[in-house]
Amino acid sequence: MTELSGLQIFKYLPAAKKTEHSNCKQCGSPTCMAYALKLAKHQTDIEKCPYAPEELKKIYIESSKQPQKTVEIQGVKIGGENVLYRHEKTFINKTALAVVIDMKKTDWKEKLHRVKNFEITRVNEHLKIDLIITKNGTTPDTISYEDLTKLPLTAINDEDFTNTSERLVNIRRRAIQEKNEKYSDPVYVYFKHTDDLNFLCAKASYYICKYANMLIFEDFDENLMASLMTLRQNIFTDPQKPLQVESKIYEFNNPDENSLIFMTTNFALTFFAVANELESLPVPSYLIVIPAEGMSVLTAWSAEKFTAKIVANTLKKLNFANRVKNRKIIIPGLLAHMKEELEEEIQDFEIVVGTIEAFAIGDFVKNLQSNQG
Ligand code: SF4
Repeated sequence: MTELSGLQIFKYLPAAKKTEHSNCKQCGSPTCMAYALKLAKHQTDIEKCPYAPEELKKIYIESSKQPQKTVEIQGVKIGGENVLYRHEKTFINKTALAVVIDMKKTDWKEKLHRVKNFEITRVNEHLKIDLIITKNGTTPDTISYEDLTKLPLTAINDEDFTNTSERLVNIRRRAIQEKNEKYSDPVYVYFKHTDDLNFLCAKASYYICKYANMLIFEDFDENLMASLMTLRQNIFTDPQKPLQVESKIYEFNNPDENSLIFMTTNFALTFFAVANELESLPVPSYLIVIPAEGMSVLTAWSAEKFTAKIVANTLKKLNFANRVKNRKIIIPGLLAHMKEELEEEIQDFEIVVGTIEAFAIGDFVKNLQSNQG
């Protein structure tokens, strides 16, 4: 049974049934509806309303059961998922990536060193191997395979793709849709050594999407891990919280007071698309990042998160007009219609309409310079 919504709960309460005690406030909420909405978010207790019928209590308790356990291993949380699809709400804990170090192997120290030192940075996030699992011995900061098998986890040894994928889907469905406790343990898939890293990458990618809580590899390959981490970052982003970067002035290639000035929003993907282009320009530049709740340019504008007032306030806060002599700000081409209103609000700068796509910035700057020259 999926979780009850506020409206579904409300239907059982006195105000919906128009009976005695409607909106009596004894639960501490001003109305039955307010109480129902709080209950749906688990911000209050079902026992606080003395008039909630037994039927509601029963289905509320049943629907509130956590479908999958959360297990913490060496500070890494796995499991705790509530939905089958990310768009229904969000996924909770990303699929952990773990590597096995067999201390009987002659090269184990070298492998351990590579695993510990492997790190990639993507969209502002520093990504490392989540867990190191040792066999035939132990080292600090790792867990032995023996100890791992004692935890409440379901293990799948990956021998056959169809079998593993069907088991993963079946276990997750039973846990989420049926809230069947037999299937509530987080699941890991164990990959033995293989020479076929391409197939390993394809299978591991599928299991990240559906529905492994942890993947354990005997093999360690930097390219494989970087690919999986990149995919995982996309799958496990909370759809309600877009990836953001800090709102500030970013500098590229040591700009001075006459350098080019660009502007965009703090949506991470937009920022990195623009930043990559600015980094590779033959001239230095600034990038002013406006706080727009992590929305992309047009979305931010339509949600009124990128307005002339917000831009003016940001420039003021950053004291930017006093830092530069250049009086031209290049805005994204998608916001061409804002040119006049921006110029009215930001008295210190002229607005130049830039490109719609980030990849065209290089040509745009070339044209700008040849026009000025
Ligand atoms: Fe409604 Fe029950 Fe709260 Fe009274 S105590 S307001 S009946 S929810």
